[in-house]
Amino acid sequence: LRQRTMKSKRLEAVERMGAAISHEIRNPLTAAIGFVQLLQNDSISKENYTQYLSIIKNELKSAERVIQDYLNFSNPEIKSMEPLLLQEELEQVVQLLQPLAKRNSVKIVSMFSPGEEIEGDKQKFHQCLVNIMKNAIEAMPKGGILTVETESTQTTVSILIKDTGSGMTLEQVTRLGEPYYSTKGSKGTGLGITVVYSIVRAMNGTIHVESKIGEGTTFKFTFPSLTPIFLEPEIQETEKELVMS
Ligand code: ADP
Ligand code: MG
Repeated sequence: LRQRTMKSKRLEAVERMGAAISHEIRNPLTAAIGFVQLLQNDSISKENYTQYLSIIKNELKSAERVIQDYLNFSNPEIKSMEPLLLQEELEQVVQLLQPLAKRNSVKIVSMFSPGEEIEGDKQKFHQCLVNIMKNAIEAMPKGGILTVETESTQTTVSILIKDTGSGMTLEQVTRLGEPYYSTKGSKGTGLGITVVYSIVRAMNGTIHVESKIGEGTTFKFTFPSLTPIFLEPEIQETEKELVMS
């Protein structure tokens, strides 16, 4: 069982690289523009035409992936913290990912405790959940089960996102959050988890990862609860009496 908690030093470094990321978008766009210019040449052969179009498509896809994973990364500071009804946010994100899950033969099972509230930025919180759930689905290319559940204590609420996918080695788990760290070749950006760490930290949350090769991975996010459970003094009295009698 591999375990790891969030490393804040790394995150600080990560948040400073806002400018660097624009290259990740600019490079594929520049390449795409170059091939569009080649396409404008009248004497181009049918074969080259098809080849260039396919290159352009790949370059644009690559830029889009970076934008998708990175959407809020250039501004990790959360300015508008608002109360978020956890169940509602989780249901929305699960809904959003249903088509991707279906295409990958992944069944999503969700169990949310009702009424839990946390504080955060809605859009960034969604980004964070999407990045984690997308990774979970991508880790199950032959299908599997994605479980999304919440767990409450008196003062905190946790979100557990669990997959039955490939799992990770200790080295892989340790490298999570490192910018550009990806095992997906040209299909990965290595920015998804980096963004997640930055958002969760801004929301005063913690991340805990457990993973086992061949069995799967669980990401556990814990946030301060806005709806802490306090026992009424009267109830405590009653309990005391019950215990004593
Ligand atoms: P990307 O998905 O573009 O590769 P991420 O930052 O989202 O980048 O993830 C980084 C790496 O972490 C992935 O390439 C993968 O190796 C690993 N990873 C993340 N989530 C999981 C998971 N649920 N199961 C297995 N590996 C994972
Ligand atoms: Mg990813």
